[in-house]
Amino acid sequence: MPDASQLLCANRLKGYSALVTGASSGIGRAIAIALAEEGAQVVINYVGHETSAQEVVQEIESKKGKAIAIQADVSKEKDVQTMFRKTLATYGTIDILVNNAGIQQDAAFPDMTLSQWQKVLDVNLTGGFLCAREAAKEFIRRGVVEDRALSAGKIIFISSVHEIIPWATHCNYAASKGGIMLLMKSLAQELAQYKIRVNSIAPGAIKTPINRKAWETKAEEEMLLRLIPWKRVGDPRDIATVAVWLGSDESDYVHGTTIFVDGGMTLYPGFTTGG
Ligand code: NAD
Repeated sequence: MPDASQLLCANRLKGYSALVTGASSGIGRAIAIALAEEGAQVVINYVGHETSAQEVVQEIESKKGKAIAIQADVSKEKDVQTMFRKTLATYGTIDILVNNAGIQQDAAFPDMTLSQWQKVLDVNLTGGFLCAREAAKEFIRRGVVEDRALSAGKIIFISSVHEIIPWATHCNYAASKGGIMLLMKSLAQELAQYKIRVNSIAPGAIKTPINRKAWETKAEEEMLLRLIPWKRVGDPRDIATVAVWLGSDESDYVHGTTIFVDGGMTLYPGFTTGG
C-alpha cells in the first residue's frame, strides 16, 4: 500500500467537521486520520479506550490537524445526544457522519444467547440509527450553505460484505449489516429532499482487531485469501480513501448505494475455476 499521506493531501474536506464512531481503532481510526489529512476537523468517538482515542487525537494534531475525543456508547440514546451536543458546541456544526462502530459476538445458532443477538443489533444497527438521526437533524436545521458544500451533509455507514453474503455462526452480525443496507437506502430515499447524501462502504476482510483470528497466522491468512480474488487482505486505509471521497463533493451524484471495497470477495470466488 502507498502511504496514506501520498494518496490524501488535496484538502478536499477543508472547513468540514466530521464525526467518526468507534474511531479509537481499526477502520474508524484510519478514516478519522484520513479525513483530518484532507482538512476536516474530526470527532474521535470511543466507548472504552480513552488512551487509544487520545493517541488518534495526538496523531492528527501532530500533522497540524484538529480533533477531539468524545466518549459515548452509540447504542445509548442519551450518550449519542450528548455526544452531538458536545460536537456542535465545539465545532458549530457537522458535515460528515461516519457510522463505523461495530462488534461481533459469534456463536453457533442454537447456542446464540438473546444477549449476544441483542448486543450486536444494538451497537451495529441501533447505534447507526441513533447517530444518523442526530446528524440528520443538524443537517436539516443548517441546510446547504453555498460555497461550503453541494450537500447539507453526508452520512456514511460502514457496513460489510455480510450485508449480502450470509454468514453461518454470525447470524446476528449478518442480520445487523443487512439491516444497515435497508436503513441506509431508506434514509437516502427520505433525506434527499434535504440534500443529505447517504451511502455505505462494505469492507471485505480488513486487518483490524475485530477479525485478528482470521489473519494472525500464515495458515489462517492463506485460508482467508482463498475468499479474496485480489489475493491481499485489506488495509484500513483501503476503506479510508473511499470514505474521504464519499465525504467530499467529488462524489456528489453517489447516493443510496453501497460501495464494496473487498478485493472481489463478493464475486463468488468459489466459481473462479468454473465451480
Ligand atoms: P475494531 O474492533 O477495531 O473497531 C470497532 C470499533 O467500534 C472499536 O473502536 C470499538 O471500541 C468501537 N465500538 C464498539 N462498541 C461501541 C459502542 N457501543 N459505542 C461506540 N463505539 C463502539 O474493528 P474494525 O474492523 O475497525 O471495525 C469497524 C467497522 O468495520 C465495524 O462496523 C465492522 O463491522 C466493519 N467491518 C470490518 C471488517 C474487517 O474485516 N475488519 C469487515 C467488514 C466490516
